[in-house]
Amino acid sequence: MTPLKRTQLQRKSTLSRTPKTAKQKAARAKRLAKQKLDCHSPYWCKKADAVWSKVVRSVGRCAKCGTTSKQLQAHHLIRRQNVVTRHDINNGICLCAYDCHKFGEGSAHSNPVVFSVWLNEALPERWMWVRMHRFDAMPAGIKPDYKQRFEDLSAILKELEG
Ligand SMILES: [Zn+2]
Repeated sequence: MTPLKRTQLQRKSTLSRTPKTAKQKAARAKRLAKQKLDCHSPYWCKKADAVWSKVVRSVGRCAKCGTTSKQLQAHHLIRRQNVVTRHDINNGICLCAYDCHKFGEGSAHSNPVVFSVWLNEALPERWMWVRMHRFDAMPAGIKPDYKQRFEDLSAILKELEG
């Protein structure tokens, strides 16, 4: 995992960028309507991302330092660019945003090697899962059904909240 640059952290998709003119608004609405009909679209991928993150963060504390008082984020153990494992609950770990996720000493993004050593010691089963799935790939010609993933994750979240 390469550390994210600030520009990458701040990059927004064309859908989340706020449209300014009426023409831009209309174009955005059209894109959105088209994507809603396509279960493989970025629209559904982002919807699944959001619910995946909520499910992962539902534990309510940082898995590494144990804090409950800081902002929590969901970290992908296998990089999220891998669409096979992107929305798998096993691939998510709840970390405090600054110290353990992105910037602190031994945090997941600033020092992935140290972080891996920690994961192996603290959560060996999870580390084993990561090692088993890190090279998973979609079969040729198959695209992930993000809408289905969104629905499955929403059901999990509902159960957690209910
Ligand atoms: Zn932490």
